[in-house]
Amino acid sequence: MNADTRLCLDSERSQDAEHQVAAIEVVDIHKYFGPLEVLKGISLTAHDGDVIAIIGASGSGKSTLLRCINMLEIPSSGAVRVRGEEIALKPDGPGRRMIADRRQIQRIRTRLGMVFQSFNLWQHMTLRENVIEVPVQVLGQSRKAAIEAADSLLERVGLYEKRDVYPAFLSGGQQQRAAIARALAIKPDVMLFDEPTSALDPELVGEVLTVIGDLAREGRTMILVTHEMGFARDVASRVVFLHQGVVEEAGDPVTIFSAPRSERLRKFVGSIR
Ligand code: ADP
Ligand code: MG
Repeated sequence: MNADTRLCLDSERSQDAEHQVAAIEVVDIHKYFGPLEVLKGISLTAHDGDVIAIIGASGSGKSTLLRCINMLEIPSSGAVRVRGEEIALKPDGPGRRMIADRRQIQRIRTRLGMVFQSFNLWQHMTLRENVIEVPVQVLGQSRKAAIEAADSLLERVGLYEKRDVYPAFLSGGQQQRAAIARALAIKPDVMLFDEPTSALDPELVGEVLTVIGDLAREGRTMILVTHEMGFARDVASRVVFLHQGVVEEAGDPVTIFSAPRSERLRKFVGSIR
């Protein structure tokens, strides 16, 4: 075996080892806002290729859970590991508030692509500028390489022709598809979606779900908060039902939607249809 072959095998092996570690691991997290306990001991693991749909009534803690994964909120206790790297938390004074290391958070966020309900594109930048911003400014990619990657991502979400247009001139569906392209541009391990279609006019929901569904079918790892139950049933490998900050029930989509065990889940699923 020559040195090149050996190097190649070694790197394949270490990649394999890396991918045996869960992409995301949330262990018994609690989150308080002042006296209000919003997450009451949540655990969740996403392995490569998992598509986890989080469902639950408004106020049940879905957004807070996603925000704890990428540290937009710092959990009050428990652990979050991204590809095995645990985010170090330490108390910020005598209360329950915790803080995390900014540099570690930034590094971990480069593994996570986040898409919010309200697109959050930078309004003073064209779509292409939106997509290349983080790769160039944060990840240090060359402008040329970032533009090439951005154009191909915009093509994928059907917006190549609109690459030089500012967000304000686009529909909500187009803006959300651009936001997905932007999140993909950092080549994240995991995509996090927080109700990506709930701010859209009904006729624009489908085009965004199509893009997300394609990503799921390609085997992309994702955690998706959604009210689109039909979509969750189609694309999710696992569905997690939150109720008042607790995982009330979790399982495969067929069981969750067709044979829910808990009365609360049964009511919830019934109320959404
Ligand atoms: P969901 O996304 O399931 O609708 P959230 O995670 O947004 O629920 O909210 C869960 C609970 O936490 C709600 O009662 C909400 O009012 C409260 N909450 C969320 N964010 C904050 C915050 N920054 N400060 C205080 N309370 C908050
Ligand atoms: Mg929410």
